[in-house]
Amino acid sequence: MLNIVLFGPPGAGKGTQSEKLIEKYKLVHLSTGDILRSEIAAGTELGMKAKKLMDAGMLVPDEVVIGMIDSKLDTNKNAIGFIFDGFPRTIKQAEALDKLLGEKGTSITMMLALEAEKEELIKRLLNRGKDSGRADDQDTHIIEKRIEEYNNKTTPLKDYYAKQNKLKVIKGVGGIENIFQKLCEAIDNN
Ligand code: ADP
Repeated sequence: MLNIVLFGPPGAGKGTQSEKLIEKYKLVHLSTGDILRSEIAAGTELGMKAKKLMDAGMLVPDEVVIGMIDSKLDTNKNAIGFIFDGFPRTIKQAEALDKLLGEKGTSITMMLALEAEKEELIKRLLNRGKDSGRADDQDTHIIEKRIEEYNNKTTPLKDYYAKQNKLKVIKGVGGIENIFQKLCEAIDNN
């Protein structure tokens, strides 16, 4: 299997690049942000609880997102691989993912980490907020909080995968096609 963790701060371009990667490599896209937003849209209890945290720029509890990924892995038993987008976001989530994949006799192939400067991220997110209507993309304070959560809780994951020799860092600036090419090279040269 080809199992990729697509990593990077909010606004790094994970969603955009995931769409292109799933098409080329025929992978299943698992975005915890998307799954949470569909729970909110469906008005579920889980969605209502998550919305409060998401609108404040905070992470939702590990147990919640781990459970969501667990069930998505089960409903996609015949997949040839997955792109994990926005997951894992904490060490606890990464350990849980290793365990879940291990139980299925597979593992993470690599982490592709997209990097961009904070100013660029804020600019992109505010722009996205205008089109998408996402509340967490429309307020600079919430965006700053998300970047802070990323810096505190999520960046340690780079070390986690580096120790397993699975980390590849890619500059997330310079045109969508150009970045896509660099991601494909990293995958194809693996
Ligand atoms: P972005 O990466 O641009 O912030 P996402 O759609 O990935 O957008 O996430 C939006 C929000 O959903 C996060 O700020 C967080 O509140 C919640 N979320 C998504 N994935 C996770 C996760 N793996 N763990 C905890 N919270 C998550």
